[in-house]
Amino acid sequence: MNHCCARTEEATIRAPLLIICAARAVAAMRLAARDVKGVAAFLASDECQNVVVLTGAGVSCAAGIPDFRSPGGMYDTLQPELITAMPEERAAMARDPTTVVLKDMFLRNQFPYHEVRRPFILGTQRQQWKATLFHRFLEVLDAKGKLLKLVTQNIDGLDFQTCIPPEKICACHGSVGRAACEGCGAPVAFDDFCERVRANIKDINGVDANAPSESSEMLCDACRRPLLKPTTVLFGASLPQSFFEVLEEELPQAELVIVAGTSLVVSPANLIALGAPGSTPRIICDWNDVGRGVGIDCASTAREDVWLEGDADDCAVDLAACGWLEELSDLRANYPKRVV
Ligand SMILES: [Zn+2]
Repeated sequence: MNHCCARTEEATIRAPLLIICAARAVAAMRLAARDVKGVAAFLASDECQNVVVLTGAGVSCAAGIPDFRSPGGMYDTLQPELITAMPEERAAMARDPTTVVLKDMFLRNQFPYHEVRRPFILGTQRQQWKATLFHRFLEVLDAKGKLLKLVTQNIDGLDFQTCIPPEKICACHGSVGRAACEGCGAPVAFDDFCERVRANIKDINGVDANAPSESSEMLCDACRRPLLKPTTVLFGASLPQSFFEVLEEELPQAELVIVAGTSLVVSPANLIALGAPGSTPRIICDWNDVGRGVGIDCASTAREDVWLEGDADDCAVDLAACGWLEELSDLRANYPKRVV
């Protein structure tokens, strides 16, 4: 009797919980399977109309742009002794190469930033690097009417080589392909800026015989301070307002979030993953199952997070297998050979 009562009470207590759990499970089930086929099928379905994408350096590696944090990247190859700076500034750069992109450093001495970035700025002007397969996959996603917003942490501007409307792209860390004054915000035409870089900034890599032997200041026409630079967001500076608008306006509408080529350790950009609605599957395209720090655990069944292991371009092909391979191939035919 006691047992019977106990079971009854237990059933009474548990029943509403089961109903709640079942309701949650139904609401959360968007993927037929938590693998690449399941994701691709959902992507192609009518239920998936609003996709928010967050990209990082990994999607540009195939273009030949090294990830700053990887071997061969800026932080690995920095030679402070070649840079125009005071001894204590060089020591700070030797201790931590990211000093080069600190706002405090730039306001004090602009040459470390400009001398390190010179080849990247001028290479961007001549479009030395081309959009990758993953960028083109996003172009197809947009052509299908499903790309709600692309948030890129990359400053390389490759996203703007695609046919994705610029207003759908939030370059949350700025772009090396646009220039303005860090002090007063006055824009400067990118080609004019590049001419000044070519004439005023020395080449610490020793490849440009026409570069000046010493660097000299580049003054803003508006405020006369030497603070012209690409619109990249320096460490210690705020992200553009447009990023925070994505968090408030587009992210809550996302039916799918794709995260590609980023370790998700840089805040606040990683809020795109953290702040996605609870019923929204989050897809990680990376060699590593990143995202633990923002609550993503692809091994857990708590929500529909899926890890697609591999480089971004491979993941692009896998996802395009949902029926978009022909469109992707058409775009790929235009690539320079070295990119493919
Ligand atoms: Zn200015």
